[in-house]
Amino acid sequence: MNKPVRKVVIAGGGTAGWVCAAALSSQLGDLLNIVLVESEDIGTVGVGEASIPPMRNFHRLIGVDEQQFMAATGATFKLGIAFENWARDGDRYIHSFGKTGKETWMADFQHFWLRAREQGFGGEFGEYCVEHEAAREGKFATSSNGSLNYA
Ligand SMILES: Cc1cc2nc3c(=O)[nH]c(=O)nc-3n(C[C@H](O)[C@H](O)[C@H](O)COP(=O)(O)OP(=O)(O)OC[C@H]3O[C@@H](n4cnc5c(N)ncnc54)[C@H](O)[C@@H]3O)c2cc1C
Repeated sequence: MNKPVRKVVIAGGGTAGWVCAAALSSQLGDLLNIVLVESEDIGTVGVGEASIPPMRNFHRLIGVDEQQFMAATGATFKLGIAFENWARDGDRYIHSFGKTGKETWMADFQHFWLRAREQGFGGEFGEYCVEHEAAREGKFATSSNGSLNYA
């Protein structure tokens, strides 16, 4: 006979454990008895967690206020991921969280950009992404219009 789950035990109080506990307690806290078990002897990986944009949805899901969260944790906003010395020494590639350029019904943006490069113009690919350019300039702002995508 299928019995409804009433008790959940989460093994481990690291990133995965506490994220799981936060999600379960915010969504099903009234229905479940949730216990998190952690070890005093075994530490967490604990290297600091950089996130990606879907984390903002997770915060909304569990009802975390972003401004309070940022102030309490001393976290920083992130517009992309910088890969240092990526293609060669001294090279820096930023994988931005924004959309680059605008596609048309014919083809995605990169095809137009590559064609332009062949013709000797077009600039850098990242120049067509506002998040990329803001990251490069060290600039950031939030807005109710959601104009920048960030983590
Ligand atoms: C250098 C480095 C950089 C990283 N950068 C990022 C990043 O930028 N962004 C990102 O998302 N991820 C990053 N990660 C990965 C991320 O840190 C881990 O995937 C994540 O912390 C793992 O979480 P976890 O809960 O599985 O483990 P942990 O956070 O290590 O937690 C494990 C928990 O289990 C407990 N435990 C273990 N054994 C027992 C036991 N027998 N009984 C009871 N409790 C026990 C421990 O006490 C601890 O509380 C990085 C990892 C490394 C190494």
